[in-house]
Amino acid sequence: MEKRFVYADNAATTRVSEPVLKSMLPFFTEHYGNASSIYEMGRNAQKDIELAREKVAKALNASPGEIFFTSCGSESDNWAIRGVCEKLAPKGKKHIITSVFEHHAILHTCQYMEKHGYDVTYLPINEQGFVNPEDVRNAIRDDTAIVSIMYANNEIGTIQPVKEIGAICREKKVIFHTDAVQAVGNVPIDVQEQNIDILSLSGHKIHAQKGIGAIYIRKGLSLPNLIFGGAQERNKRAGTENVPAIVGLGTAIEIAVADIPERAERVTAMRNRLIDGILKLPRTRLNGSRENRLPGNCNISIEGVEGESLLLMLDMNGICASSGSACTSGSLDPSHVLLALGLKHEVAHGSLRLSISDENTDEDIDYILEVVPKVVERLRSMSPLWEKISKEQN
Ligand SMILES: *Cc1c(COP(=O)(O)O)cnc(C)c1O
Repeated sequence: MEKRFVYADNAATTRVSEPVLKSMLPFFTEHYGNASSIYEMGRNAQKDIELAREKVAKALNASPGEIFFTSCGSESDNWAIRGVCEKLAPKGKKHIITSVFEHHAILHTCQYMEKHGYDVTYLPINEQGFVNPEDVRNAIRDDTAIVSIMYANNEIGTIQPVKEIGAICREKKVIFHTDAVQAVGNVPIDVQEQNIDILSLSGHKIHAQKGIGAIYIRKGLSLPNLIFGGAQERNKRAGTENVPAIVGLGTAIEIAVADIPERAERVTAMRNRLIDGILKLPRTRLNGSRENRLPGNCNISIEGVEGESLLLMLDMNGICASSGSACTSGSLDPSHVLLALGLKHEVAHGSLRLSISDENTDEDIDYILEVVPKVVERLRSMSPLWEKISKEQN
């Protein structure tokens, strides 16, 4: 078997695509004017920002006035929660509803709000990885400021019933925010039809660069600033505009939403082959449901292996993947998402997330399916835990 390089961690970040890079390049050394300057080069930059804003708005069925550029998905999430809480504090609304399996950009912001006198309800997910809209309804109180439920989960790929949750929030007159960082470009999003008041997205998950994001804030719902300073973004988000990144995000989102069904079909077929192939190994389980799952997401627990060792061996074989523990933060704690699914610690530890994109090929999948069983066999043969597990079986 010939070694190859396979990037299968697109939920962590993606490669900047050629068209995105090409659209960005002139803005570094030719059209580098400050978008707030009055001379032509500045005014032109402003025009290009507005074109990008239109593209983002169109991708969500929003209007350009409802889109603000931010530095990342995390900033958008922070702004949504903190902005709504600050806005509604004078009305005595000091309750937040979210779920246990949100991204840390939401969870850690909620924990911060708790320290500042807010009450947070963390809704559970079922064993398939879904939030129940009726749980949202039952959790809403008179003092609820915001409901924030992610559109699609970054670890297990489950796509939430966003439209139903939004409808409940609308009926109860509570602001509904969704972190759609993983969903954009993978599922069709329509903020109007899906009753979404605020939505976060990020560039680097859709083949734009790192460090650019956007937030949709429904018209009529004005949030207090998170970042103060100049008059950029209609006085709502200060900081000299990152023109190349904004232009790149515009290009990326336009491409991402252009052919969702065709791309989803192609990527889903590759993903299903991955899932079926890896599930052939004994003592493995798919995390999250097969249905309503992001096209590129494969998350499987493999008993008797340890996530970090698995990743290191895959890396030696040229495969970039991720595991069910928060290894990026240097901690060995198992993922809060997998624990929320009800997995035992040691099972959550031995989880493998492969997230593919349309840039992957069938040959990549063949290669992964050759390497993973060998690596798993090797690790299990050295594992005292696996010895114990296999004895229990007999
Ligand atoms: C990546 C990610 C974020 C954070 O986006 P950044 O642009 O990296 O800050 C937030 N939420 C989800 C679901 C993500 O996958």
